[in-house]
Amino acid sequence: MVLTYRYRIKDATSGRHLRRQAREVNRVWNYCGDIHNAARRHNKRWPSGFDLIRLTSGSSKLLGLHSDTVQAVCKQFAISRDACGKRPRWRGRKSLGWVPFQASRAIRLQGDTVVFLGRRYRLWLSRPIDGRILCGSFAEDARGRWYLNLQVEVPQDSEHGIGEIGIDLGLKSLAALSTGEVIEAPRIYRKHEQALAVAQRAGRKSRVRAIHAKIAACRRHFLHELSTRLVRENRRIYIGNVNSSGLARTSLAKSVLDAGWSQLRFQVRYKAVRHGAEYIEVDERFSTQVCSACGVRGGPQGREGLVVREWSCSGCGARHDRDINSAINILFSGRNVGLQQTEIPVTSVGKTLNSISARLRVRASREPARLWRIAAGSDQVSPPAPRVPHAH
Ligand SMILES: [Zn+2]
Repeated sequence: MVLTYRYRIKDATSGRHLRRQAREVNRVWNYCGDIHNAARRHNKRWPSGFDLIRLTSGSSKLLGLHSDTVQAVCKQFAISRDACGKRPRWRGRKSLGWVPFQASRAIRLQGDTVVFLGRRYRLWLSRPIDGRILCGSFAEDARGRWYLNLQVEVPQDSEHGIGEIGIDLGLKSLAALSTGEVIEAPRIYRKHEQALAVAQRAGRKSRVRAIHAKIAACRRHFLHELSTRLVRENRRIYIGNVNSSGLARTSLAKSVLDAGWSQLRFQVRYKAVRHGAEYIEVDERFSTQVCSACGVRGGPQGREGLVVREWSCSGCGARHDRDINSAINILFSGRNVGLQQTEIPVTSVGKTLNSISARLRVRASREPARLWRIAAGSDQVSPPAPRVPHAH
């Protein structure tokens, strides 16, 4: 499977060279946008990534870029444009710096330095690169720090645990496990809230950015530790499919965003795929209402029921903690889902991900053949969705 490794670039002076390259990258990107607009003005088909590469060939030396960078920008332009169905955003002064390269031949790694375009960049080599590098990019974050991102094809290992676990993601605590453990959400945002407010009132933008970055880093670290532990201990992991984007619009928003459900789910999923464990998302409707001991539906319901933390079953009289009962129900229904798809091998999630990216690749490669024209005589551009090729 392919993972992205991210390394911080050490020396402060290298930012200057990368920033200059990033400006030229923006120039190539905006040139691609101009070509795209010109094609539309003259009712021609949208230029493909290959067309753009052909148009920009030979420019890399003039721009002071690596030729792999120019090609990667053209390709990414075509991919982004096809994904959103229109010309992507103009890259200007405010865009974060980005210098991609499309093959590992563009860089040379020597110990903790990377040589790119004849210049040495020192890295914090926080972990060894244990696989084949496919492509990558240099990227800037909101604080002006530069990172090297590498797409690395890593081998799969099968070091998963032997347990089986249901996880209920909640608001009060981050997660309840079917083993009876409750994992409290770290109140990272609330902890830094005051310092953030002070910095915001004082108008200290760099301080605000630093605090936000710290909050994000703390949360990511906590979730990484948790997800690694879950995959180490278990071979089947069932998680409720609670929809965080729906809840984020309600008044519960702040604690939902703090909880970072989707990040946890994403991490558990890719770690499970990598270690050969099974990750299954389960429909969690009624999981809080059904008694995990006898199956009677008598638990708390709806938004008002959220305040009920403990309840007794009317059928068998068992006393339940709301979230742990829900986690046990998720475990049960996850087993049922697992039984229904026994033919699907353990790495089913990885397969789906791969097939999605394969489908995207097919769509991208078909792009040159796609011909569509704007109806003659009307300035109104038809929406890109029904792109039916005209037969001539
Ligand atoms: Zn019961």
